Amino acid sequence: MATEATRLAYLEALGIDVFALRETQLPASESASVCERPTRDPDAPPAEPLDWASLRQAVSSCTRCPLHAGRTQTVFGVGNPEADWMIIGEAPGAEEDRRGEPFVGRAGKLLDEMLRAVGLSRDSVFIANILKCRPPNNRDPAAAEAEACRGHLQRQIQLVRPKLILAVGRIAAQQLLGADESLGRLRGRVHSLNEPEVPVVVTYHPAYLLRTPGQKREAWKDLCLARRVIGDQIA
Ligand code: URA
Repeated sequence: MATEATRLAYLEALGIDVFALRETQLPASESASVCERPTRDPDAPPAEPLDWASLRQAVSSCTRCPLHAGRTQTVFGVGNPEADWMIIGEAPGAEEDRRGEPFVGRAGKLLDEMLRAVGLSRDSVFIANILKCRPPNNRDPAAAEAEACRGHLQRQIQLVRPKLILAVGRIAAQQLLGADESLGRLRGRVHSLNEPEVPVVVTYHPAYLLRTPGQKREAWKDLCLARRVIGDQIA
């Protein structure tokens, strides 16, 4: 766990005014509301009860959607298979497709900084995406692609059994929660996934924060909400 001094240094590196910390001391009850995920499609196939090795194999050989034809490799996910925090993004980009690991580009570096700001490392969390294959030209995932990949992600969540999921970006949040609300509406409250039951907090995608650094303060609030949900104490 990082010391408070280390954390403040990371916050400064993120460009976050440290006075913003005061706003994060509110009890979770003041800012968190519970929003149930809509019930799952009863026709959806049940998640495969695969172990990690079988799941990894199933993902790497997956041809459930046309994206498999354009991939260099699948991007399964990385981190601690027993993590308390699971970070879920949208889909691999060019660099992730090349290296086979999520969030390794510039946005990934910022994600690492965000995690460090709350005392976490890339190795201590589990990072995955809604899609395991790169959409061409980094376009948004199509609904059918997300649906085809859903079982893989669901099984990852079941195997990790995280205490909290942090959904980064609108696409990840909407796909994960089965919601069509704006990111602004999805942020600032605690959602709940079923099967298994996991609280979900939504924040900005780090790529958006690179373009709009003024919103880093808001992302910090999201991280603090997540930390309160999971019961972490400030060191
Ligand atoms: N953006 C994402 O949502 N996921 C990645 O892995 C990389 C960039």
